[in-house]
Amino acid sequence: MTIAIDPVELARDLIRCPSVTPADAGALDLLQRALERIGFACHRLKFSAPGTPDVDNLYARIGRDGGRNFCFAGHTDVVPVGDRAAWSADPFAGELRHGQLFGRGAADMKGAIAAFVAAAARFIARCNGELPGAISLLITGDEEGPAINGTKPVLEWLRARGERLDACLVGEPTNPTRLGEMIKIGRRGSLTGHLDVRGVQGHTAYPQLADNPIHRLIKMLTRITERPLDDGTVHFQPSTLQISTIDVGNPASNVIPAEARATFNIRFNDRHSGKALERWLRAEFDAVGGGYDLKIDVSGESFLTPPGPLSDLIARAVEQVLGVKPALGTTGGTSDARFIKDHCPVAEFGLAGATMHKVDERVPVADILALVDIYAAVLDGYFADEAPR
Ligand SMILES: [Zn+2]
Repeated sequence: MTIAIDPVELARDLIRCPSVTPADAGALDLLQRALERIGFACHRLKFSAPGTPDVDNLYARIGRDGGRNFCFAGHTDVVPVGDRAAWSADPFAGELRHGQLFGRGAADMKGAIAAFVAAAARFIARCNGELPGAISLLITGDEEGPAINGTKPVLEWLRARGERLDACLVGEPTNPTRLGEMIKIGRRGSLTGHLDVRGVQGHTAYPQLADNPIHRLIKMLTRITERPLDDGTVHFQPSTLQISTIDVGNPASNVIPAEARATFNIRFNDRHSGKALERWLRAEFDAVGGGYDLKIDVSGESFLTPPGPLSDLIARAVEQVLGVKPALGTTGGTSDARFIKDHCPVAEFGLAGATMHKVDERVPVADILALVDIYAAVLDGYFADEAPR
């Protein structure tokens, strides 16, 4: 079968589906049609959980059983457009201007999905229907949202039916500014803490009859911010703790409030775990004393796929196409690689992320075309040592 996929047209079509989390807006149907045209068998997987929106996902596969399965993972959902009036292009039109493709999801990450589909089509065409192994795509509609009904249950579904992934490339926009700068081999963990300090309300002129929770909150926050958490590790930046908000909401200057709240977020490297950080936080807060509630939400632990065959393979492909050697990094936010790492080696490489989640998100068309070449070189390299049959 020799059906070519135009990656730019496919990216534009995907952008035209306004799939703001948790809406799908036809994005997965469109992708499924493109994949079925080049021979993929597609499974749609809808998951639901109490208190979260239902989410549709797609697992597509082509190739023979028994060979190695190379998986590309990504998401078709996008973040909201923000201030629509500030966009110079319609965020859902897939507009091409001055060699750039504009639209929400162009960089994060419909452009990369389209590039992988085009690369897969090229590889399949060259194999003349005799694939040396299997190629699969795990595409979720729930990455930018709570990520509960997405990649994680899809991986559980795969495991339950005995479907193995041998390596996984996640197409997130890993390059800070220019294509070829960075492959991500791990991610920091993320912990959010909601601290609620309780005191006793009273008159500011009679503090002996009250207990001011703000004073204790300030002491608690000082204790956790006055020293760095660490000074970084071989593959990770230093962990960071940022207070995101302090809320008292007290309109009266002569009232000691009964309650003061704060929220903070820790991005942590492989020196820490969510559990260990929680123990440290509670010890610091207990040292200040008094009544408080602490709610902890760990959205992902830190993880690392140490530099090895998969990162080497992607780095070689990048160098071959662009002539630059990418760095191996672990910066930025978290991604669904945090779930995949429990199943197989995983690394991330996609477009440049400078405009992701921003107004006028865009990518150079030339980058999409180069990414097709890179992904195609990754597939060639991955299956190079397997005889076709
Ligand atoms: Zn993304």
